[in-house]
Amino acid sequence: MEVVLLGTGSPIPDPNRAGPATLLKTGEGGLEQVLVDAGRGCVMRMAAAGSMPVLLSGVLITHLHSDHVCALNDVITTQWVMTTEPRPLRVWGPVGIKRFVERTLDALGPDIGYRIAHHDDLNWEPAVEVCEVTAGDSFALGSMQVSVHATAHAPVEPTAGYRVEREGRVVALAGDTIPCAGVDDLTSNADIYVQTVIRDDLVKLVPMARMQDILDYHSSVEQAAQTAERNNVKTLVLTHLVPAPQPGQHDEWRAIAARHFSGEIVIGDDLTSISP
Ligand SMILES: [Zn+2]
Ligand SMILES: [Zn+2]
Repeated sequence: MEVVLLGTGSPIPDPNRAGPATLLKTGEGGLEQVLVDAGRGCVMRMAAAGSMPVLLSGVLITHLHSDHVCALNDVITTQWVMTTEPRPLRVWGPVGIKRFVERTLDALGPDIGYRIAHHDDLNWEPAVEVCEVTAGDSFALGSMQVSVHATAHAPVEPTAGYRVEREGRVVALAGDTIPCAGVDDLTSNADIYVQTVIRDDLVKLVPMARMQDILDYHSSVEQAAQTAERNNVKTLVLTHLVPAPQPGQHDEWRAIAARHFSGEIVIGDDLTSISP
């Protein structure tokens, strides 16, 4: 399994970082592909990673914060217009994702009508198969086995972390969360643990209430590293970096994590690829 960080940004717009989105590639020729979250610009980054929405076996959504789902409409439309026969896009997410997709399709209604009217060979509407999941659920996704774990991002509820296993390899994708028992289960003995993080030491310096508010529901770099160490993770991958590290600052981030975690540490940039 290959993990490609499509977007390592956050709600704060950044010309070099797309919104939170991660691609898993596995199977024959890397053609089994799963998108985890659909942040700003993720379809552009998929193209850069040699992917396309039409190639997706599925989409896993961690939660309905806008930075994690704002480009799902683009994934849905681009998948639909590139299919040559009716083929559903399969989406898994916490309770609420069904309604979100229904509303998205409603908003796309005019476009769907225009394209069906204009293209003789496109006579079906986007078919999105949505499955709402809760902690404890597990399901097969192609050759992968996925289990759903509780994460803690209150007041955002429900949320989901996904543990993806294939041929003895484990990739754990946590989304936004503070450390909790669910994340410990999610990451136990994982080969790769992808965690969204903030630098609490830097965010604390920003004299804006709205920035201070984010401290209580994200893992800090230290906390992510402690979770990784406690759960015997091999490689910790940090993404959704707030504030975004500038060139030359990655070593500082890595050093903070390394004080708490003895395994490999990746400070994510867009299109970083990691294989277990
Ligand atoms: Zn969030
Ligand atoms: Zn977020």
